Amino acid sequence: MQYKIMLDAGHYGYRNQSPAVKEYYESKQMWELHLLLKTELEKYGFFVATTRDVQEKDLAVVKRGRAAKGYDLFISLHSNAVGGSKGGNVNRVDVYTAYDNLNNAHELGQILVKAISECMGVDAGNSKTRKSEKGDYEYYGVLRGARSVGCPLYYIIEHSFHTNEYAARWLMLQENLLRLAKIEAAAIAAYFGVKKEFELGDINMDGKLDSIDVMLIKRAYFGTLTLTDEQKRLADINADGEIDIFDYLAAKRKYFKG
Ligand SMILES: [Zn+2]
Repeated sequence: MQYKIMLDAGHYGYRNQSPAVKEYYESKQMWELHLLLKTELEKYGFFVATTRDVQEKDLAVVKRGRAAKGYDLFISLHSNAVGGSKGGNVNRVDVYTAYDNLNNAHELGQILVKAISECMGVDAGNSKTRKSEKGDYEYYGVLRGARSVGCPLYYIIEHSFHTNEYAARWLMLQENLLRLAKIEAAAIAAYFGVKKEFELGDINMDGKLDSIDVMLIKRAYFGTLTLTDEQKRLADINADGEIDIFDYLAAKRKYFKG
């Protein structure tokens, strides 16, 4: 089955500037990150959508959460802030999820905390919750919205604190955002048991069918190369259960067609 994921970039326009690194705005960097994460998740075959099309445009938090209707997972991306004289020292990744651990939400929460804190080189916090003081519902509007439409798993990820200079500088670098996107996508895929999907014929699984794959399929059909089960599946282009000359010719055709 194809899982569906709704991504939400926390905030819009120029919101939540870092006091430590003036160029840093939570709204800008998290927008970047959520687009990168979308691309990385799509490489695993997930169907991914975002709550907003335009960075400059706001949408009420509950409505963003409600966009998760029909989705298997909702994630809102943020960096945190804390005041006070010691505030700048706090450098920790936390995740917020269902107050009642709905669908064992903490499992993926902790996986994300660990993966992201290691990637950023900061402290690992926890998969946390925050229940409204007024009743049995989520304190955070995005989470309340996601729950109200029946989304089974929903999270706010705080990518450490932009009040910390190290974290803000780290998050300013595009290559770091890409690293984050890749490890988050990998963690989510592992949780759902989803493997990267490769085009038929791409038997070395590097993301493109090229002359190397054609050559490898030829070797497989001559019996001079042993394939793994996954490679056999990808090499059997005409799906007749055998790797033969027809697969080799089909790979060649696919390659020349580009
Ligand atoms: Zn935020």
